[in-house]
Amino acid sequence: MVVLEEPIKKVKTLNNYINGEWIESQSDRILDIVNPATCKVIGKVPIATPREVDEAVKAAKEVFLEWRRTPPLARARCLFRLKELMEERFEELSRIQTMEHGKTIDESRGETRRGIENVEVATGIPSLMMGYNLEDIAAGIDEYLIRQPIGVFGIIPPFNFPFMVPLWFAPHAVATGNCVIIKPSPHAPISQVELANLVDEAGFPPGVWNVVHGGGTIASSILDHHDIKGICFVGSTAVGRDIVYKRCGETGKRVIAQCGAKNFLLVMPDADLERTIAACMTSFYGNTGQRCLSGANLVVVGDGLNQHEYNAFYRKVVDVFVDAASKIRVGYGLDESVQMGPIQSKNRKERILWFIQKGIEEGAKLRLDGRNVRLVGDWPHTCFLNPTAFEGVTTDMTIGGEEIFGPVACIMRARSFDEAIEMIHGNPHGNAASIFTSSGKWAREFQYRVQCGNIGINIGIAAPMAFFPFGGMKDSFFGTLHGQGRESIRFFTESKVVIQRWF
Ligand code: NAD
Repeated sequence: MVVLEEPIKKVKTLNNYINGEWIESQSDRILDIVNPATCKVIGKVPIATPREVDEAVKAAKEVFLEWRRTPPLARARCLFRLKELMEERFEELSRIQTMEHGKTIDESRGETRRGIENVEVATGIPSLMMGYNLEDIAAGIDEYLIRQPIGVFGIIPPFNFPFMVPLWFAPHAVATGNCVIIKPSPHAPISQVELANLVDEAGFPPGVWNVVHGGGTIASSILDHHDIKGICFVGSTAVGRDIVYKRCGETGKRVIAQCGAKNFLLVMPDADLERTIAACMTSFYGNTGQRCLSGANLVVVGDGLNQHEYNAFYRKVVDVFVDAASKIRVGYGLDESVQMGPIQSKNRKERILWFIQKGIEEGAKLRLDGRNVRLVGDWPHTCFLNPTAFEGVTTDMTIGGEEIFGPVACIMRARSFDEAIEMIHGNPHGNAASIFTSSGKWAREFQYRVQCGNIGINIGIAAPMAFFPFGGMKDSFFGTLHGQGRESIRFFTESKVVIQRWF
C-alpha cells in the first residue's frame, strides 16, 4: 500500500472570492471539511452571509457591462490560459478532490479531465455563439438573429463531483459574456477554491467569476436575488424540483435543475457477459455509487428464453456480478491500488445503511453485505462501506424505487424486454438507462422507447461529453434547455431578431 502525497498540509479557513479578491467571510458559522478516508479535518468553510452574496452580485453586475463588450476571442483567451493552468496543476487538483470527497485518484483524474474538456469546448465561443441571417425575406429586407449574454448566473452544485459540475456551466456562461457566482457544496468546497485561484491567475476581469460559500440558506439568497438572471443547479430532486425550479419560476429566472436519479441497466440474454459485468462494476461502484449516472437497478431480462434457461441465466448473472463486486479493493483513494473510496460523510453512510436495512426488512436477498468493512490499509471505518448487492429486488421495494446514492446494487428480474421497459417507466426518475445486448433490434428499441435523458448501449455510465447536452427527463430534470453543448449556448444567451431595410 502506497499513499500518494497529500496536497493539503494545513487546515485553512476558506475565503469567498468576490470581485477578484479573497475576502474573509463575516460569518460566525464555520463548518469543518473532513477527509472521509482518514476522518481528519482538512479545512474549514464559512457559511457566508446574504450580504456577501449581495456584494458578489453587485461586482458581477458591474463588470458584466464591460465583459459583454469584450470580443469573444478575447474572452476565449482567458479560458485558454485557464486550461493551461489547469493542466499544470492537474495532479494536485485531482488529489484535492480525493481528499475532500473520498473518490479514488483515478476517478478524480477523470473528473479533472472532464472539467478541462468543458473549458476547452467553451474556447470555441466565437463559432458557437454565432447567429444566423437570411437576406431578402421580403423585397430588399434582411433578417438576422444575434445572441446576447444575459447578466449574472448562480451556480449551485452538489457534493459528488465538486470540481467538475460547476465547470459544466461556468466556462460557457463566461465565454458567452455572462458573469457567475458559484456556491460550492459546503461538504467539498476546496477544489472550487483552487480553481478560482487559477481563474484569478488566468486574467479574467475581477467580478466575472465569484465564489461564495455556504449551504441551503446562501443558495436561497442566490435564488431570490433580483439581479441574478439564471440558475444552474445540480443536486437532489427534493431541492431541485420543490425549491430551485419553483423559486426560479416565481422570480422569473432561467433555470437548469439537474436532479436525482434511479438508473436501470438491462442485461439481455445475448449480452457479452464478461464485458457487461466489467462495465457494471464501474457503473454501480464507481465514485462509491455516488453518481447521478450510477447503475442502481440491474435487470436481468429473459426475453426469448424458456423458464429453465431464464433461471440459469439469472443465476449466472447474479453469481458473476457478486463475485466481481466482492473483489473490489476498498480504501483511501490516494492509494493507487484502491478501486473504491469511502462514502463522502458519516451521515451519508448512515442513510445508505438505512436503505440496506430496509431492503432486508422488505424481503430482498442480501447477497453481498458491504457492512462487513474490509479495507486496503488501516483506516477508520467511519465512512467506509464495501460493495453491496441485493437480489430478488422488485420495483415496489424502497431500495428498488428510491435513489440510494451509495454502493448498493439491486438485482431484479424481468421476463421480457417490454416488462423491463415498464419497470423503467414506472420509476419517476429519467436520468439514465443502459442496455447490454448484441442485438441491434433491442438496442434500437431501447433508445427509441426509454424516457431517459442519457442512454447507454453496452455502456454502463452514459455521461455526455462536454460538446453534447447533459440532462435527464421526468423527475431528474427541471428546466427547458440542458447544460453543456449547443443547448448551453442557448441557455446563457438571449436571441434577438433584427429585421432591416435600407432606404
Ligand atoms: P443536495 O440537493 O443536498 O445539494 C445540492 C446543492 O444544493 C448544494 O450546493 C446544496 O448546498 C444546495 N442546497 C441544499 N439545500 C438547499 C435549499 N434548501 N435551497 C437551495 N439549495 C440548497 O444534493 P447533494 O446531496 O449535494 O447531491 C446529491 C444529489 O445530486 C443526488 O440526488 C444526485 O443524483 C444529484 N446529482 C444529479 C446530477 C445530474 O446531472 N442529474 C449530477 C450529480 C448529482
